[in-house]
Amino acid sequence: MFDYLVVGSGLYGAIFACEANKKGKKVLVIDKRPNIGGNIYTEKIEGINVHKYGAHIFHTNNKKVWEYVNEYATFNRFTNSPVANYKGELFSLPFNMYTFNKMWGVVTPEEAMAKIEEQRKEIKGEPTNLEEQAISLVGRDIYEKLIKGYTEKQWGRDCKDLPSFIIKRLPVRLTFDNNYFNALYQGIPVGGYTKMIENMLDGIEVRLNVDYLENKEELDKLAEKVVYTGPIDAYFDYKLGYLEYRSVRFENELLDKPNFQGNAAVNYTDRETPWTRIIEHKWFEFGKDEEGNDLPKTYISREYSSEWKPGDEPYYPVNDEKNSNLYAEYKELAEKEENVIFGGRLGEYKYYDMDATVASVLNKCNEVL
Ligand code: FAD
Repeated sequence: MFDYLVVGSGLYGAIFACEANKKGKKVLVIDKRPNIGGNIYTEKIEGINVHKYGAHIFHTNNKKVWEYVNEYATFNRFTNSPVANYKGELFSLPFNMYTFNKMWGVVTPEEAMAKIEEQRKEIKGEPTNLEEQAISLVGRDIYEKLIKGYTEKQWGRDCKDLPSFIIKRLPVRLTFDNNYFNALYQGIPVGGYTKMIENMLDGIEVRLNVDYLENKEELDKLAEKVVYTGPIDAYFDYKLGYLEYRSVRFENELLDKPNFQGNAAVNYTDRETPWTRIIEHKWFEFGKDEEGNDLPKTYISREYSSEWKPGDEPYYPVNDEKNSNLYAEYKELAEKEENVIFGGRLGEYKYYDMDATVASVLNKCNEVL
């Protein structure tokens, strides 16, 4: 008999299992996928750690979380500095002095600010849609080249038809700082995220290709308690309806050349290019294998924003009123389930960055273990 059956070997499940194991509990981890790691799973292809379910960059201001993950992986010094490609013109992101110099030829922060101020004046009164909101924050040039097409592809609608509240702020940096995240700590685990999860699950029994919901009765008999990190609506057989997600589709390609775009992430900000961005995975680890050798090939993923329908891989929860209310109803049902802990991004229907996932599961461990 196990003390805990952990459903899902993603970051949440792996850390829960690891902490329970440390406390001397007997733990069984299952996952319906053929691999551990959930959405942070990385697969080695031609020596490159490929982020199979979307690019993942670890970043946090939480020292405890950073120290915790560093017990299970060595993090490299990767810094996220995406590049925008607008019809072949390249710009630095997030908006900073490099961006403004390329856009207008301005050299000083005063010149850049003056340009933005002048263009913002175009909008008089309260912005009534996303287009007006963006122009009122950063002016028309940045809006047209760096915001409009990308946002329209993401939402599948014109910016004029999107509500202004979607964009509340658009940070403008009057410095030469391309570091996308304002985080104290940042990096990618050397050797990939899968290795980090393997280290967390060391000494713990893991069974893959096992769907909990299809074998619930037998599996429940194996353990005193269950930690469930799958979708909360699936647990209740969708009896109150489906929670909705926004989805992403990836088109992957292995290329017989060492360098495709010279950066991990390039955003395509025009409307005509159908993908939103291209990830070139090798640059998360500086194009080298673990021995420091240059890798001869490269692997890229084109990302497309796509509509989600029941049965698709759930990616980003939609935190609108309808879905939040439905989640609240499921949560009430979940609270009545004795001996089941619902956790993680699917169990709590919440967008958690990895550091928030770590903080959340460590809190839960403190509470119950
Ligand atoms: P998951 O990783 O989804 O794990 C849940 C596991 O449960 C899965 O392995 C699944 O197969 C399993 N499961 C589900 N149902 C069943 C069942 N019935 N039976 C058995 N097993 C089941 N965070 C960052 O900090 N930086 C980033 O750059 C970043 N990029 C992201 C990009 C994308 C596209 C997405 C969607 C998220 C990103 N995140 C990022 C967030 C990060 O992915 C999450 O914080 C983290 O993966 C959450 O882990 P989890 O264990 O809760 O969920």
